[in-house]
Amino acid sequence: MGKKIVIALGGNALGNNLKEQMEAVKVTASAIVDMVAEGHQVVVAHGNGPQVGMLKIAMDEASKSEAKTEAMPLSVCVAMSQAYIGNDLQNALRTELLNRGFNTPVATIVTQTVVSKDDPAFQNPTKPIGSFYSKQEAEQMAAKGENMVEDSGRGWRKVVASPKPIDIIEKEVVKTMMEAGQIAISVGGGGIPVIAEGSSLIGAPAVVDKDFASALLAKEIGADTLIILTAVEKVAINFGKPNEEWLDEITIADAQKYIEEGHFAPGSMLPKVMAAMGFVSTGGDKVALITLLGKAKEGISGKTGTRIVK
Ligand code: ADP
Ligand code: MG
Repeated sequence: MGKKIVIALGGNALGNNLKEQMEAVKVTASAIVDMVAEGHQVVVAHGNGPQVGMLKIAMDEASKSEAKTEAMPLSVCVAMSQAYIGNDLQNALRTELLNRGFNTPVATIVTQTVVSKDDPAFQNPTKPIGSFYSKQEAEQMAAKGENMVEDSGRGWRKVVASPKPIDIIEKEVVKTMMEAGQIAISVGGGGIPVIAEGSSLIGAPAVVDKDFASALLAKEIGADTLIILTAVEKVAINFGKPNEEWLDEITIADAQKYIEEGHFAPGSMLPKVMAAMGFVSTGGDKVALITLLGKAKEGISGKTGTRIVK
């Protein structure tokens, strides 16, 4: 029986620039079509860290040097990143599908993720993005109300909030496509962050974590499997230490204990494990899998990766 799978692609599935991206998506497409070939219904989600950073830098620079160019809100940069990453992915998927004899339709859904204006992340922004500034520039920007931090000795940057996703506006469209056997590319970069005000949606200056957004989408569309494809084959405890131990299967309770013991790095593995726990706790026999992009097929058949179960 085919499964309903949301695949969340990490940075290594897309590369760091356009040239790398156009090569990387071929490998990514092949891994995704492997799942289609096995009869699964798939939805594709992806990150946008380097891409949204690059767009934000380009737009900030343009607004500094060209008075008529207004600074572009971050939510608009997320939308732009969804479009061009989605475009590359859908074309790579189309080619791979046709080469293997499938006529499966593929489309990118510009996807909005609802966040709360009261999310504590807005009071405590933590995610550095965009251009580097001198200390002096940063002080001037801070005086105008921007949140600025020194980023790892490289200069000062804006930091933005990473609020928790509450809802996915286009979830019904994505669900309909999945159930019709079509491939939707959705919640790119965690989705365009929006705050609901009456019947309107207002773009928010934030970047939603793609692992949390993918887990929410998977829950909302009734997927039974969430696959987070990243740069490691398995999740480890004592990661990078002599007593490192790679995990095959963990329960929510195990994961909770390992989190408390500090085994997962906050900016990388922790959100994946937490997203996986959130998804499998929503009921049924849901399974989350964290593995390498190139091991997705083996991972689904239970041969590798780390499975998170209830
Ligand atoms: P992605 O772009 O896929 O979101 P990240 O770099 O954010 O990738 O997260 C994956 C990385 O998390 C791995 O490459 C690894 O270096 C790091 N990591 C941190 N803690 C762990 C752990 N306990 N087990 C495995 N990997 C870990
Ligand atoms: Mg990440």
